[in-house]
Amino acid sequence: MRYETVIGLEVHVEMATKTKIFCACKNEFGSAPNTNVCPVCLSMPGTLPVLNEQAVEYGVRAGLALNCEIPNFSKLDRKGYFYPDLAKAYQISQFDYPLCSRGEVELDVDGEKHKIGITRIHIEEDAGKLVHEGSESLVDYNRGGVPLMEIVTEPDFRNAAQVKAFLDAVRANMEYIGVSDCKMEEGSMRCDINISVRPEGQKEYGTRSELKNINSISAAQRAIEYESRRHIEVIEDGGTIVQETRRWDESKGKTFSMRDKEEAHDYRYFPDPDLVPVYLTDERIAGIKASLPELPAVKRERYVAAFGLPEYDAGVLTMSKYTAKLFEDCVAIYPEAKAISNYIMVELARLLKENNMDAKDIPVSPQDLTDLLKLVGDGVINSSVGKQVFEEMFKTGKKPAQIVEEKDLKQTDNADEILSIVQQIINDNPKPVADYKGGNAKAMTFFVGQAMKATKGKANPKTVNELVKAELDKA
Ligand code: ADP
Ligand code: MG
Ligand code: ZN
Repeated sequence: MRYETVIGLEVHVEMATKTKIFCACKNEFGSAPNTNVCPVCLSMPGTLPVLNEQAVEYGVRAGLALNCEIPNFSKLDRKGYFYPDLAKAYQISQFDYPLCSRGEVELDVDGEKHKIGITRIHIEEDAGKLVHEGSESLVDYNRGGVPLMEIVTEPDFRNAAQVKAFLDAVRANMEYIGVSDCKMEEGSMRCDINISVRPEGQKEYGTRSELKNINSISAAQRAIEYESRRHIEVIEDGGTIVQETRRWDESKGKTFSMRDKEEAHDYRYFPDPDLVPVYLTDERIAGIKASLPELPAVKRERYVAAFGLPEYDAGVLTMSKYTAKLFEDCVAIYPEAKAISNYIMVELARLLKENNMDAKDIPVSPQDLTDLLKLVGDGVINSSVGKQVFEEMFKTGKKPAQIVEEKDLKQTDNADEILSIVQQIINDNPKPVADYKGGNAKAMTFFVGQAMKATKGKANPKTVNELVKAELDKA
């Protein structure tokens, strides 16, 4: 029998507000343990929370970016909580009146459009962090009270590629609107995966398990592959799937049962009497909407329409507002959109990755990048030297013309000089000449390669190709 996988996500995003959600402590990652704390976020008796307006605003921005409805009324609720990383023994969250509801994100996965419904987005406080050392457990409350939003989706995903596309889209949108950097590796975006399988064609959903401890998008993909296979095997063996929470073990590449699935009533939700409800007027919501920048999906379509870029390029460039900005600034100086796109998508992306850098730290200016592209476009340097110069620009911040000058990298288009080099190589290498004559056209690449090497990569490859072919045919 063939099965279909069904997935719904619960995505937690840490909002980059200046201060925490219910107190004035700094919302900052990486400080010394228990330095960003106060009686409120330490849950001391007698303290009172005050809702951070910026957290509300960021939640609304996120909801609008993901095409949600923003109700005028919303409230905060207490949710029972057992662990010592939140000493109140309840978490302030939202239950029946979340900040945002009924949104939608359209994904483009390998050229196919697929819509994911957003059930709701609510805001809540994060818990502290438990650190286990030997037989001791320590708690760091710096993260306690950091504003989170939880994005809950409909069970609309059918495979891991769609999940990856969705997480990428959420991250891009949150970055554009300044709400979060959404780094799964640093925990500013965390995602629980609800997953079930059903025989193809069946309407009812199967029983789901909820996967926790997913620390990267690639872990999400592996966990989905593993867990859907596990469900199918259990069912094929005549067993039944129990609804439960399971932990993904990255090093073992498997999921392990943690606990039975808890139900909403287990949490004993009730309205938090310490906090007034949130009332948002239509004008306030419209004002926030008007303040949003051009969002990734709109930008992507504009790049295709205005610059004739392939959908793929437009998608990659708009994944970060920083690469999008570099692209737009470059096109304004030098209207060769595809050449610019290639450099950003391939050369720049590779160097950022190799140097463990973010798009936000791009060290090359639009002026310098377009100057380089002009040098290549005008034939002053050839395209492989161009890549070499770019790497040097990236590392040293020098201007392209200066690098070309200092390293003597100008393209050689002196046919006489190239010709004598080619003839020399042909004389020295009778075996590949014979191969070529014997009908192996590929043998030609050997001569082209040798000639490029002899000119330290500076020769015009077109001239080299023409001369090699002419001389081989003569030989
Ligand atoms: P809870 O809040 O108890 O975890 P919800 O009903 O709110 O439960 O669902 C949480 C998530 O589980 C949502 O993302 C939803 O899309 C997903 N989900 C619900 N049913 C299924 C199912 N049968 N298979 C896969 N995912 C599901
Ligand atoms: Mg859940
Ligand atoms: Zn505090």
